[in-house]
Amino acid sequence: MTTTHCPYCALQCAMHLEPGPDGALAVRPADFPTNRGGLCRKGWTSAEVLRTPDRITSPLLRKDRDAEFTEVGWDTALDYVAERLACLRADHGPDAVAVFGSGGLTNEKSYLLGKFARVALGTSQIDYNGRFCMSSAAAASTRAFGLDRGMPFPLTDVGEAEVVLLAGANPVETMPPMMGHLSAPTLIVVDPRRSATAQQALADGGMHLAPRPGTDLALALGLLHAARVHHLLDEDYIAARTTGFDQAWAQAAAWWPEQTEHVTGVPAHQIRDAARLLAEASGAYILTGRGTEQHAKGTDTVSAWINLALALGLPGRRGSGYGCITGQGNGQGGREHGQKANQLPGYRKIDDPAARAHVAGVWGVDPDRLPGPGRSAFELLDALGTATGPRAMLLFGSNPVVSAPDAGRVRDRIAALDLLVAADFVLSETAAMADVVLPIAQWAEETGTMTNLEGRVLRRRAAATPPAGVRTDLEVLNGLATRLGQSPDRFPTDPDAVLAELGAASAGGAADYSGVTPARLQTGEALHWPVRARAEATPRLFLDAFAHPDGRARFTPVAHRPAAEDTTPDYPLIATTGRLMGHYQSGAQTRRVTELAQAEPAAYVEVHPDTAARCGLSQGAWARVTSPRGTTLAQVRLRTEARLDTVFLPFHFAGEQAANNLTNPALDPTSRMPEFKVSAVRLEPAAHH
Ligand code: SF4
Repeated sequence: MTTTHCPYCALQCAMHLEPGPDGALAVRPADFPTNRGGLCRKGWTSAEVLRTPDRITSPLLRKDRDAEFTEVGWDTALDYVAERLACLRADHGPDAVAVFGSGGLTNEKSYLLGKFARVALGTSQIDYNGRFCMSSAAAASTRAFGLDRGMPFPLTDVGEAEVVLLAGANPVETMPPMMGHLSAPTLIVVDPRRSATAQQALADGGMHLAPRPGTDLALALGLLHAARVHHLLDEDYIAARTTGFDQAWAQAAAWWPEQTEHVTGVPAHQIRDAARLLAEASGAYILTGRGTEQHAKGTDTVSAWINLALALGLPGRRGSGYGCITGQGNGQGGREHGQKANQLPGYRKIDDPAARAHVAGVWGVDPDRLPGPGRSAFELLDALGTATGPRAMLLFGSNPVVSAPDAGRVRDRIAALDLLVAADFVLSETAAMADVVLPIAQWAEETGTMTNLEGRVLRRRAAATPPAGVRTDLEVLNGLATRLGQSPDRFPTDPDAVLAELGAASAGGAADYSGVTPARLQTGEALHWPVRARAEATPRLFLDAFAHPDGRARFTPVAHRPAAEDTTPDYPLIATTGRLMGHYQSGAQTRRVTELAQAEPAAYVEVHPDTAARCGLSQGAWARVTSPRGTTLAQVRLRTEARLDTVFLPFHFAGEQAANNLTNPALDPTSRMPEFKVSAVRLEPAAHH
């Protein structure tokens, strides 16, 4: 029996894996502070994906996109890729090659991928799909606290609070075991949709505040206003531990509850009640999720919630705080080790000369030869195959033709590449467009570390032998780097060797892993970063001081502004997207699990019965949903709790059922996160389906 962690979300629930007589792994939940012996449906069924009949076990190559793939040996595939990359770099320069990573990769893979891009390829063009998930909260936390660690406290602390405000998060569906931590506090759920979590809050005597999509920044300003006029702010804390309140207040001063109701639709009395509940609690947390972030003003929206938390004196104290609920399995670690276009390991800025010198020293390269910042994820995808953009892309652990916004446009851009290389375990929708597919090992077949939503570094352990013909991502990077002229020991294939190097590269940085060792992980020590060499870990940050040089947190003045796209007579409804309990991300894994696929086999659109009737639609009918960017097909689910002006679509389905055919790639100016949550659409009956 092997004890390891779930392949999916950032809760990283612990599980035991045991091989049965036929070699299939049986899953049993293990006790761990985040899941306390629970697993969701995805975790329980996670072993099935290892044995999917769709699994690729030999590299696939085609020299003509219209041709079928041919199975080839690893040397043939890697030689071909290296040769094509060398030609493209010689003809067009190093930035002709892009690398696209994932928040699902282990820390070791994330680190080595960033090093591979900058050292072996010399390209600045690297980013990852985590840009679509947590980048707005990361930016807002950094500007408020001087540091971004999703939850700067253990999740177990949250259960001790009296009140928890969840803004734009739906853990009942997305991470059910987390609800074990939220059963005692009174919940205030902020979500335009009556989500399962909002329903739970109401059933338990809590509140559901349902702002119009795209107006929760205004709601946070209204709550701050209500708290101040009712003398609920923590003035001593504001004076002692923060700066910038007056400027932030100047933006909130006009947001009387009635004005806030006018813009958000949330009744003024609910705003006053929620402010009082939150402020008068003996311990309270504000936790934000993707609903606050995936907007063209996502960073400012998260800042508005952080401002509220600061004004109430919550962060940096035991028993209260602000945190972001990270989504992807290694969304936190994935953004710390150099996969982001603007960052180097240790959460260092790539344009900081001292950071460049430190990392270049560990890598044994000239800091002046390290590339600078590249394009953010959507901008990178949107530049592929253009006159000034990359001509080739190496893809690791991501399926952007399903998960990126304006998916049709992304599909066209990827199709325009001279070379697409996908490291994947099946032919995902994006891998199916590739010239070369490299079959890789899966989570239960290799060892590595992940960093969960509390910034705790965990050990994933191999419980099965990968199928013959499959390699690990680290082996793929080593094979390519060697063929590109690098010494093989610069790109180790042993995860522990990579972890040791990652520790050195991150030492002294914000996310310092220099004290994370296999031996400490083996003991089960709770290694919340920063973990400096031979030092204690840091489960709770900011108790004495925030990470800005003066030790104070910063209020950020933020103003409400409308969503990037408004409804029009042609597109009279708002579409918002989200996740289901039974699927994960682009569905490349979970759509291949029998139980999950049977439970949710197809895309649906949740619609209010009156709205559906106006569009000529009834329960179970297929609807054509159209935005200014594209169309998707989805089966109608009527729901009386749905808003009249808004429809909801899960984004786990592909092709003509991909919700991201509709979504708006308008980007947040700071985080470069797209506006997945607000698209103008129309609904009509789908003919011939
Ligand atoms: Fe736990 Fe998330 Fe895995 Fe579900 S998907 S078992 S909540 S880690």
